[in-house]
Parts: sequence; structure tokens; C-alpha cells
Amino acid sequence: MATTTPSWAERAAALVPDGRCLIDGQRRDAANGATFAKHSPIDARLLGAVARGQAADIDAAVASARAAFEDGRWARRAPAARKKVLQAFADKILAAKDELALLETLDMGKPIQFARTMDVPAAARCIQWYAEAIDKVYDEIAPTGPNALALITREAMGVIGCIVPWNYPMIMAAWKLGPALATGNSVVLKPSEKSPYTALRLAELAIEAGLPPGVFNVVPGFGHEAGEALALHPQVDAIGFTGSTRTGRRMLDYAARSNLKRVYNELGGKSAFLVFPDFEDLPRAAKTLAESMFFNQGESCNAPSRVLVHEDIADRFVELLASHAPAWQPADPLAPSTVMGALVDETQLRTVLGYIDAGREQGARCVVGGHQARAETGGYYVEPTVFDGVDPAMKIAQEEIFGPVTSVIRFKDEAQAIAIANGTPYGLQASVWSDHLNRAHRVARALRAGTVHVNQYDEDDITVPFGGYKQSGNGRDKSLHAFDKYTELKTTWVRIDD
Ligand code: NAD
Repeated sequence: MATTTPSWAERAAALVPDGRCLIDGQRRDAANGATFAKHSPIDARLLGAVARGQAADIDAAVASARAAFEDGRWARRAPAARKKVLQAFADKILAAKDELALLETLDMGKPIQFARTMDVPAAARCIQWYAEAIDKVYDEIAPTGPNALALITREAMGVIGCIVPWNYPMIMAAWKLGPALATGNSVVLKPSEKSPYTALRLAELAIEAGLPPGVFNVVPGFGHEAGEALALHPQVDAIGFTGSTRTGRRMLDYAARSNLKRVYNELGGKSAFLVFPDFEDLPRAAKTLAESMFFNQGESCNAPSRVLVHEDIADRFVELLASHAPAWQPADPLAPSTVMGALVDETQLRTVLGYIDAGREQGARCVVGGHQARAETGGYYVEPTVFDGVDPAMKIAQEEIFGPVTSVIRFKDEAQAIAIANGTPYGLQASVWSDHLNRAHRVARALRAGTVHVNQYDEDDITVPFGGYKQSGNGRDKSLHAFDKYTELKTTWVRIDD
């Protein structure tokens, strides 16, 4: 008899996610038994009770991580041995692709097809890449005098606290875990309270792959409780943080108030997309913009949420951009063909709708979208929205909206475009669209952003650094540069007598 494959909705209904902490290799409740209810953004249904980690749980996780680091069960293994375990971890992530994708979609509302084909493979590739890299990194000898040997070596830092957001929960965790674990550190990960489940499963898979207990601990909970306790902990050597600029500021304060731990902040953005009149293929630019902006419901730190267009081509460009809106209408994230899912929760929905109201009140013209959608589902959906006639000083042009809303700002010349592009506190990404070689390079140089794309936006790879200028953060995730964040440089002077 032929069996039918269950739909994603059927699989979701059968899934019972485990929200307990994972400390010292064991699942356990919060020490005081506290939990919080986790609802799905798709339809607001209750997914389960998640451990509400507090300072006592963070203490236990940090103690476990510290003990694992000090006895060398992971840090003192040869790089090739760590590589083998991390490769097995990556394989397990891929083998659990459907389960992880479903958890991610239920947790934060992204379309299942993207969770399966992008988030899970990207997280696995990240772990795989750092595993592959770690036995190819050599230490150095300084060019000193004839009687001295100065060795410059990298050493694991110790215990790394990772605090991550909800928009790409697995990928953001993997960007920290890959370099931190490969270099021999122990980790305590605090996922967002809005998306706790995949981080917990990742830790189980790592242990199944052979990572010793205590090396990778996960404590779910709220920022002002578990997050604060982790960032203040005197036994934590560094914090790898991704989240809002507001919370990033707090991370620096926590470090100043405790042990001056290293703080690496990957923060918000208000990325500019500059279209010059010499760029011929405007349809491609508009399509790329729609894809980059509305992907992940616009909940991307690098979403091109400011579109700077030369006044001569602005009308045509806005028309082209608006023509893509129908393809990005929100739909059920569990339906296989959906491209735009639900915002993460009601707070985010209210925030995004509040910005849309502010845009209208300040005089911007809403060209498409501008409304909540699918309210009958109980979930949190917003139409893809484009504002035209936006002034650079308006709230929607200055603040990170973190939803599917972009603002078109018209400019007269190159100098004005650069000034507007650089005119926010952020500096994460930007893109320049021009067929003029000199202009493309000139503008790319002038933009104060960690990444500048030329005539494209969506290209990305684990081999390149990711991070921001100004209040978009410090340090860089991804690439070999991320090893710098989780290692200390040691100089060892040796005297060699004649
Ligand atoms: P958030 O700052 O509210 O929360 C991020 C994490 O910090 C969560 O785990 C949260 O629980 C924790 N936290 C919150 N308050 C805390 C506190 N007082 N003390 C300690 N921990 C605390 O950010 P969010 O809403 O989860 O994520 C969205 C933000 O993340 C956006 O600004 C986005 O641009 C940014 N982001 C940046 C990047 C990047 O690489 N630059 C990538 C993804 C997201």
C-alpha cells in the first residue's frame, strides 16, 4: 500500500519541542523550575513551555564550560581531532535538516522552504568550514635578533558567552560556534527567548557527534535575566553578541562592570541601495532589491531599507520595484511554495505597523502594501511595503524597522547620494548600482559600511567577513578573521645562546 508523506502542517502538529536547558551534556529544567510559554508566530498556537534560565542556570553552565576548558578535554585536543568532531556535527545538522527547519519555521515564522534550503545548509556549512580550516592555521615566528626566538601563537580564550537574536537563530549561532569551538573554547549560548528551540537541538547534535559534555551549553531565557547574567559573569572571557544596537551598548556596560571581557557586537543596520542613472538594467536592480528586502520578512540586519535613486530614473524604478510586491505577499510559512512568512511576534508586528503609520504621518507616500495581512490566522503578517518621497531625516529613513518596509529617497548627484547613504548611525552594508567603473569604485570607497556590493546585493559566503562600521558593531563574523575574536595572541621569547 502506498504511504503518503505527511504535510509540514501535520509534522508540525506532531512535534513536541524540548525547551529544557542543556548544561554539562544533560537536559535539565531551570534550577527554580521557571518556564515561559512559547507561541508560534504562524498562528499564535502554544508550542510549549521553555526553561526560563536565570543567574543560577548561567552559573551552572559557565562552571561546566570552565571545567571543560581547564581540564583540556576539548581545548587540548589536536586541531585535526577537533576537526573530525565538528565535521560529524555538521553532518548531523544536515541529517536533521527537516526537523531543524520545522523548528525554525515554527519558532520565528520564516517559510519552511528557505529554512530547509538556506538556514540549515548555511549553519552546517559554517561549522564544516571552520572544522576544515582549523588544521591549516599556522603560528608565527617574529623576525627578531639572532639570539632570540619570538613565537607568536594563538591560544583559545576560555569560556565564550554567545547571545544571539531570533531572525536567523541557527545561522547566527553557527557564526559564533564555528570559530569559537574550532579554536578550542567552551561555549555558553543564550538564544533569543523568541526562538529557543533550534539552539537546544544543535547542542544535542553536537554532543551526539562527539563533542565532550560541558563544551557547548545552552541556557534559554530572557535577555534581562539569563542574558544579563551571562554577560556579567566574571568567568566568561568574551561575549559574541548579535542583536540590536541598544542591547549591544549594554554588553559594553556589562563588561565594564565585571571583568572587562572582550565584547564583539554585531548590531543593527539601515543599509542603503544606491541606483545611479547610468545603470542600464534597472529591472534586475529592482528584482534584486525586492528579493533582498522582503526575504526573511524584512527581518534581516542587512535589509536594503533605504533606496537612494537618482531623480531622473526614480519614477521608473519605483514602478519596477512595486511590480514585485505581488510575488512577496505573506502566506502560510508551512506551505512549501511560500516566500514571505510571519513576523516573529505581536511586539514586532506592532513595531512595524507603527513605523508604517509614522511614514504616512510624516508625509511619505505609501506606494504598495502598508497593512497587516492574514489577521484571521492569529499570526503576525505584514504586506511588502514601499514608501516613496521619503526625506532622509524621516523616522522610517533613520531607524531600523526590521520588517518588510523600504523607503525610496531621491537624490540629485553623487555627492548628495553619498552624504545621505552615510547619514545614519549605522554602517552595516550598502550597494552601488552603476555601469560606470570609476563611479562604482569611487562610491564604494566613500561608503562607511562593512560590506559594499556593486551591481548586486545577495551575494554572500562564509569565506568573507560580515560586520559593521559605526553603531552596526565591531569585530567580524565569518571568514578566517573570526578566529581573531576567540583567540588570544601570545608572544613567547626564547633566548638562544651562541
Ligand atoms: P535584541 O538586542 O533585542 O536581542 C538579542 C539577544 O540579546 C537576545 O538573545 C536577547 O534575549 C538578548 N538580550 C536582550 N536584552 C538583553 C539584556 N538587557 N541583557 C542581555 N541580553 C539581552 O535583538 P533582537 O530583536 O533579538 O534581534 C534583532 C536585532 O539584531 C536587529 O537590530 C538586527 O539588525 C540585529 N542583527 C544583527 C546582525 C549582524 O550580524 N549585524 C545579524 C542579525 C541580527
